[in-house]
Amino acid sequence: DLTDPVLSSEAELAFEGALRPKSLEEFVGQTRVRGQLQLLLTAATMQQRTPDHILLAGPPGLGKTTLAMIVAYEGGRPLRMSSGPAIQHAGDLAAILSSLVPGEVLFIDEVHRMARSAEEMLYLAMEDFRIDIMVGKGAGATSVPLDLAPFTLVGATTRSGLLPNPLRDRFGFTAHLEFYDEAELEQVLVRAATMLGLDVDREALAEIAGRCRGTPRIANRLLRRVRDYALVHGGRADLGAVRAALDLYDVDPLGLDRLDRAVMETILTRFGGGPVGLNTLAVSVGEESETIEAVVEPFLVRIGLITRTPRGRMATPSAWRHFGIPEVGAT
Ligand code: ADP
Repeated sequence: DLTDPVLSSEAELAFEGALRPKSLEEFVGQTRVRGQLQLLLTAATMQQRTPDHILLAGPPGLGKTTLAMIVAYEGGRPLRMSSGPAIQHAGDLAAILSSLVPGEVLFIDEVHRMARSAEEMLYLAMEDFRIDIMVGKGAGATSVPLDLAPFTLVGATTRSGLLPNPLRDRFGFTAHLEFYDEAELEQVLVRAATMLGLDVDREALAEIAGRCRGTPRIANRLLRRVRDYALVHGGRADLGAVRAALDLYDVDPLGLDRLDRAVMETILTRFGGGPVGLNTLAVSVGEESETIEAVVEPFLVRIGLITRTPRGRMATPSAWRHFGIPEVGAT
């Protein structure tokens, strides 16, 4: 998670891996998507074929990588993991595709960031399990067809709007992952606390569930910070420890982090509540507009602090209230 340098490290990644559910049954929430995936996988198994290609769309930390792994585990299939930024030439993709074994699940994270030339190769691969490889250069160049083993592509994207239509159309199924509600997040936390052998008060877990931006990854990370806090201060991981630890890490009562608040304060104070365009907003807070659009904005919209209008982003009345600023133009 690039927006969260404090919380990302090797240890955090190992911890994240250890907590990943390994079956659809263990996967908390996303009931609709789970049912849809279950049907797709069962039908494929009954027909003894590879499942259709799957696109998983949604903000970071909601379980896209986890679901890709589950697609492989549930079918007893090998899994290959790659990502859009790692595929900068058609050759990178050709190397991966030509080495897949029959039935393999290929996970491409951030699939919208793949090179154009690779994207075009992927169309044919997804449709016909075949690619054309260019041999030689200039006038003597010829294309040699190469048959691939049948595979299932699982693509993940935080920006499904950025995928070219021909690519989007080649996925048999697209799942839009939603933010989790507090009851689901509590379930995620109870599971994590149990797996880690942490003794945490139930009301402490509920507090974390309400302050993790609807995101399991953040819930699990905050749990670790609370555990650290209780350890260092020699107390229990109780409500007091949660509040103190989350204050220390700048997580506000709504779960907003520093970047969320910077965006809100910019809209409210510099642009009088908006509307303000995405790029202007990104420049004002010194972030990439992609991060604002994929990471920050979906949650702010979800909790009703901003709305998207054709003229830009606007603060809602509850945003003015939450930040304790008198609304511009209000009496
Ligand atoms: P994404 O790929 O969407 O960024 P991940 O699949 O890497 O998200 O999930 C991040 C972390 O959150 C993982 O450690 C995983 O254990 C946890 N997680 C995500 N979704 C769930 C879920 N539905 N139930 C339990 N844990 C989850």
